[in-house]
Amino acid sequence: MDQADVRAQVRRWVQATWHPELSLRSWRELLADSGWACPAWPREWCGRSLPPALAAAATAELAAAGVPGPPDGVGMALVAPVLLEHGSDELKQRFIRATVTGEITWCQLFSEPGAGSDLAGLTTRAELADPGRAGEAPSSRAEWLVTGQKVWSTGAATADYGLLLARTDAGVPKHRGISCFALPMRQPGVLVRPLRQMNGHSSFNEVFLDSARTGEVIGEIGGGWPVALTTLAHERRLAVFPRPPATASGLAWREAIAERVAAAEPHKWYPQRAGRPDLVIARAQAMGKTADPVVRQEIARLITLSWSARWMATRAAQLRAAGRSPGPEGSLGKLASSQIARQAARVHGLIAGASALLTGPDADDQVIAEILVSVPAISIAGGTDEVQRTIIGERILGLPREPDASKELPFNLVPRG
Ligand SMILES: Cc1cc2nc3c(=O)[nH]c(=O)nc-3n(C[C@H](O)[C@H](O)[C@H](O)COP(=O)(O)OP(=O)(O)OC[C@H]3O[C@@H](n4cnc5c(N)ncnc54)[C@H](O)[C@@H]3O)c2cc1C
Repeated sequence: MDQADVRAQVRRWVQATWHPELSLRSWRELLADSGWACPAWPREWCGRSLPPALAAAATAELAAAGVPGPPDGVGMALVAPVLLEHGSDELKQRFIRATVTGEITWCQLFSEPGAGSDLAGLTTRAELADPGRAGEAPSSRAEWLVTGQKVWSTGAATADYGLLLARTDAGVPKHRGISCFALPMRQPGVLVRPLRQMNGHSSFNEVFLDSARTGEVIGEIGGGWPVALTTLAHERRLAVFPRPPATASGLAWREAIAERVAAAEPHKWYPQRAGRPDLVIARAQAMGKTADPVVRQEIARLITLSWSARWMATRAAQLRAAGRSPGPEGSLGKLASSQIARQAARVHGLIAGASALLTGPDADDQVIAEILVSVPAISIAGGTDEVQRTIIGERILGLPREPDASKELPFNLVPRG
């Protein structure tokens, strides 16, 4: 089977199945059961077990057919791949299809006020609701009570479940005492408080957990760190919310567009976070700055960075198409996107001058001010620039590992504060 065969199969299936007046849920159920929703995933889990290049062709054909795909966001991008790699069949049964159809939405509950870059230093704890007899291993169906605080949790105010990291054993070194859970968000022990950012948007939340209940451990108890690493490797590819096609009409599309608007709401400033390099040349022309040698020099620098990042991303996409799962190379792309965003903000500032600081209804171009206050976020989200440099140094360049005196100590003996 080659790409043309796969494309023809998708076209035939869409012609026989799609009807614009289906509800979005019914359409996605058909999509999930056909395996075309996520063609690289295993057949039993909404996929077709296709190799990456054929799966990419199928996904492209589905988009070209002008039909809604699976939902965008954390569920499809992070949680489902994590469940496929680390979840029991029971958990996959429970969550994969419901995530693909959009019945269940997710947020990520990793960062804490005292644990961001040093994620393994997290202190939110999960304790067995019924500790049982001393020395007895907890059953996979045991219920856990989670207490602590998470922060910067994007979309937590609307999600049904959180992908949660919590400490289940403080008596062992920090990386070994963490477990990963699926935490139901709508329960009395979970309090979500939105935070307001300096760009005026409110994408993040603080999440307070007070004996919140969960019975769903993803991976082994105490084996949460490899699950976290899988999640972070997927996270370094940034969220994209593609536009619906111009032909979008009917019930399924109306529901898909409403869902997309809601899912994209916390991310609507993300184009500004990326620095809007796409606006630079037009603005230099509009402001009569194209002959300014300093502006020209800085624009050239921006374009050099952008093109090298694009080639690097193409190389990474080809490696993925050849079957390599995302690895430390993701850090190169993440770091490049920070540098491009900062350089683009710098050039916008040079072009606009002091008026770049103006915002509000009277400002000529409010987007520039939004760029300036949004760009710092890209150097932090999904792992800071310094952390990416450490990963590149250690895992790509093979430099000696950063010393961490707390790594081998039992977590409860590590000095904190
Ligand atoms: C837009 C955005 C979206 C986010 N979404 C989510 C989400 O949905 N869920 C979630 O759980 N979290 C989320 N986060 C949180 C994010 O993962 C953390 O902010 C990030 O990991 C940094 O942690 P921190 O803020 O605690 O900073 P810290 O770890 O306290 O870092 C402070 C500074 O110290 C530096 N530093 C720390 N350690 C080292 C080191 N070893 N070597 C060199 N320098 C170091 C850092 O680079 C940084 O400059 C989001 C953040 C942003 C900005």
